[in-house]
Amino acid sequence: MPLSRDQQDEIEALRNQSVPTLRATAPGMEAHLYTAYPVLDHGFVRVVDYMGDDAAICQAARVSYGRGTKSVSNDEGLIRYLMRHWHSTPFEMCEIKLHVKLPVFVARQWIRHRTANVNEYSARYSILDREFYIPAPDALAAQSQVNNQGRGAALAGDEAARVLRWLTEDSMRAYDHYEEMISTEGQQGLARELARMNLPANVYTQWYWKTDLHNLLHFLRLRADDHAQYEIRVYAEEICRIVADWVPFAYRAFEDYRMGGATLSATALDCLRRMLKGEEVTQENSGMSKGEWREFARLLD
Ligand SMILES: Cc1cc2nc3c(=O)[nH]c(=O)nc-3n(C[C@H](O)[C@H](O)[C@H](O)COP(=O)(O)OP(=O)(O)OC[C@H]3O[C@@H](n4cnc5c(N)ncnc54)[C@H](O)[C@@H]3O)c2cc1C
Repeated sequence: MPLSRDQQDEIEALRNQSVPTLRATAPGMEAHLYTAYPVLDHGFVRVVDYMGDDAAICQAARVSYGRGTKSVSNDEGLIRYLMRHWHSTPFEMCEIKLHVKLPVFVARQWIRHRTANVNEYSARYSILDREFYIPAPDALAAQSQVNNQGRGAALAGDEAARVLRWLTEDSMRAYDHYEEMISTEGQQGLARELARMNLPANVYTQWYWKTDLHNLLHFLRLRADDHAQYEIRVYAEEICRIVADWVPFAYRAFEDYRMGGATLSATALDCLRRMLKGEEVTQENSGMSKGEWREFARLLD
């Protein structure tokens, strides 16, 4: 994630200034503000701005005239209650604005989360950098044999070396041609908006991404999960670390009820009740399909 000297100076200048404010600030988030945390080989995540804290969630839930906080245990209990009962609107009172640098194929998955506000780097106006995601050897995995939408063990030996060489060479060749096409030396130069179509999906883009805490947690639930692709999961995990410091009560409730918790169907709940009464329940007498039963058994394992 090589930030230029100028970019680092801009971040330092922002971090060195302070302005008195009556607004709620979260000390945990102030420590992260503006800092770029590296993700993948050239990417990063950094918080550009935020609004609200744990107290803002309680304030909204209580529709309070003041800060809306009671005792610490009372506030945490309220936040856990809200999370448990899907009373989600108080979480929407907190907002976060991130600056993210990410490969285009990761951006395609990320942009599916429609409830955010996004402004992306313009490759019509600006020239993209020669920066491509090349997986580290341990992330260069084979196609999974059991999950069509997943990966297995890392490639090894000659195959790994060949794949890495092709990924690198193809990216560099595509960028060489991109540069040559937009060059105005001795030629008209192709428009940037057209030349970019030559670049592969591992080229890096950047965007500002703003969303509220409710929708951010929904994003994290899906993308910090084991089923999410590694390359988006590492971004989600970095954001989880930031959110844990920003709204510790809300994040703990999220970890407990959403990340670590599970939703059971009425059939599964009935099976659980029968098991607790000592009945031997199998897939055949459970009323569940084989797939459902497998997932249910994994939950209880
Ligand atoms: C592991 C994984 C695999 C996936 N595989 C595929 C795939 O193969 N193909 C594919 O196309 N996508 C795939 N997706 C993307 C997935 O289908 C969702 O588009 C994505 O996760 C965004 O979820 P969302 O719509 O809940 O989020 P958001 O767009 O952020 O929406 C949040 C919530 O707002 C509400 N909402 C938002 N917009 C609307 C609307 N227009 N109408 C009604 N309610 C709305 C819904 O309640 C929604 O859950 C995959 C996602 C994951 C995590």
